[in-house]
Amino acid sequence: MREIDVSEIVNAVKDLFIDANVNLGADVMAALHQALEREESAIGKEVLKELLENARIAKEEGMPICQDTGLAVVFIELGQDVHLKGGDLVEAINEGVRQGSRDGYLRPSVCHCFSRQNTGDNTLAVIHLEMVPGDHVRVIVFPKGGGSENMSRVVMLTPAVGLKGVKEYIVQRVKESGANPCPPVIVGVGIGGTFDQAALIAKKALLRPIGSKNPDSEIAAIEEDLLDSINNLGIGPQGYGGRVTALAVHVDMIPCHIASLPVAVNIQCHAHRHNERVI
Ligand code: SF4
Repeated sequence: MREIDVSEIVNAVKDLFIDANVNLGADVMAALHQALEREESAIGKEVLKELLENARIAKEEGMPICQDTGLAVVFIELGQDVHLKGGDLVEAINEGVRQGSRDGYLRPSVCHCFSRQNTGDNTLAVIHLEMVPGDHVRVIVFPKGGGSENMSRVVMLTPAVGLKGVKEYIVQRVKESGANPCPPVIVGVGIGGTFDQAALIAKKALLRPIGSKNPDSEIAAIEEDLLDSINNLGIGPQGYGGRVTALAVHVDMIPCHIASLPVAVNIQCHAHRHNERVI
C-alpha cells in the first residue's frame, strides 16, 4: 500500500488549474493550425489567426486564454493500492482550486444559483472519482467555460429513431448553438447508459486527444460522418461563416436499457483547456 499525502493533490490541482488556463495543449494548437489551412472563408481565416495569436500571447505572458477561466471539473483516478493521508480528498481538491484561482489571478466564475452571489474562489469543483488498479493517482483538471457548457444537452431519445435519429439530433444541437459556444468547437458525444452516465462519457470523450478516432471502427465512422455534417453547416469560426465549425467530434458509446436511447452532447469551445498529472 502506497501512502500519498493529500497536500500533493492540493499542489497538483493548483498547478494544473493555472497551467490549463494559460497553455493550450499541443493537439489543440495543431488542430487550429490545420483549421487555418483548410478554412475557405476570409473572415474565418482571420478569426483563426486571432485565436492562435491569443493562445500565443497567453502562453508567453502567463495570462488566461479567456476571461472565462471555467468551472473546475476534476477527474481523479485513484489507485486501489493508495492510502491517502493528511486530510480529506474533496477538501484537498477544492483547496487546490482556491489556491490556483488566487495565484493564477483566475476570474471567480462560480456562484449561488439564485442569489448569484459569487463563491469568490471558484469552489466548488465538480469532482469525478474513479477507482482504478495500481498505486498512483491521476489528476485531470478540465476548466469548463460556461458559454459552451450552456449549449450542451442530454436527451432520452426513442430507440426507434436509431442511428439516423441520433446523428440528426447531434447535428441539430450544434446548428442551434450557432456562435454561442465560441466555435470552432469540439463535440463530445455520449450514447447509452443512463441519463447521468451519457453526460459523463460525453465529457470524458472531450478529453481524448483532438482528432484521435474511437478504436471501434463503427463509432469512428460515426465521428467522421458527424464532423462532415457539422462542418457543412456553415457556422464557421466564431460564427462568422466558414468551413470549420468543429475541430473534432469524439463519440463514446455504452449499452443502454432496452426502453432507452440516451444521448448527451457536450460542446466545448476552441479554448479547450485541460491538463493532468500522475502522482
Ligand atoms: S465558451 Fe470558451 S472561449 Fe467562449 S467565453 Fe466561454 S470559455 Fe471563453
